Amino acid sequence: MNPNTPQATVDTCALCPRLCRHVCPVAVGTGLESATPTAILTSIMMAKRNPSAQNHAAETIDLCTRCGHCQDFCGVDQPVVALLDAARSQIQPPPHRFVPPTIHGHTPTVAIICGAQDWSVALAEKTGQKLSTLRTNDHLGEAHRIRAHEAEAVTHVLATVFQGRTAISSCATCRQALIDADVSIETIESVRQDVPSLPTWRTCHCPAGPSVKTLLRCCGARAPLALSHPALSATMAEEIRLRLDGQAVYVPDTRCAAHLQSAGVQALGPADPFSTI
Ligand code: SF4
Ligand code: SF4
Repeated sequence: MNPNTPQATVDTCALCPRLCRHVCPVAVGTGLESATPTAILTSIMMAKRNPSAQNHAAETIDLCTRCGHCQDFCGVDQPVVALLDAARSQIQPPPHRFVPPTIHGHTPTVAIICGAQDWSVALAEKTGQKLSTLRTNDHLGEAHRIRAHEAEAVTHVLATVFQGRTAISSCATCRQALIDADVSIETIESVRQDVPSLPTWRTCHCPAGPSVKTLLRCCGARAPLALSHPALSATMAEEIRLRLDGQAVYVPDTRCAAHLQSAGVQALGPADPFSTI
């Protein structure tokens, strides 16, 4: 933990009667009591008191997608996401070394390709705009950015890589990394200027707006859950599939759309051809 984090801040969640359990998509979507914010912060509290509890806490703090719903709901403004990011730095071993991404091309606008689909050629043809590309297999250092002590260094590297160029992103994780690095950014949606006439299923990091209601506002596609507990991440997508009950939806995030598609949801993402459903 960050040595400046007051013990009382962790203890407040650990001693809370699970008041935000119903808004935590991991707790609801997996049915695991160990995934409630209260249980996760309890594991951190125990690890701070007893080093032998650290292995358990190291696994438990990744039962989270950093959606922030618990802290939005919390009546005492608990900074849960920051607490867990700090705990990762303290309790977990460091991940593989961060490799700075490379931009291919010299145009001022860069397409960020972070999934299986390379939509840059189709978008360039549609808009008549020449695009450079940056391919990232780790969502611009996501595993490092969710660790409090490493986030700033990764952000600095990204700012250096872009140096005044504009990015086009199709995923909220990459978009947030670039926003933090003060990179000018557009969404593929805004450049493409068309969306399918389907009800929208908004991911936990999409801007607010009309949305299909499933009462479970996160599909589990993001880190740390998807990296550390992929089977549970898949369980959450399956839960969304059941709740959508055959409803075809538009998902404005390629990562979440791909995750839901893998569970059998009739979903279109912002990089899909919109004629496929
Ligand atoms: S975030 Fe608030 S409501 Fe949720 S466990 Fe912590 S103190 Fe309780
Ligand atoms: S940030 Fe989201 S997933 Fe993580 S504990 Fe809070 S509600 Fe659950």
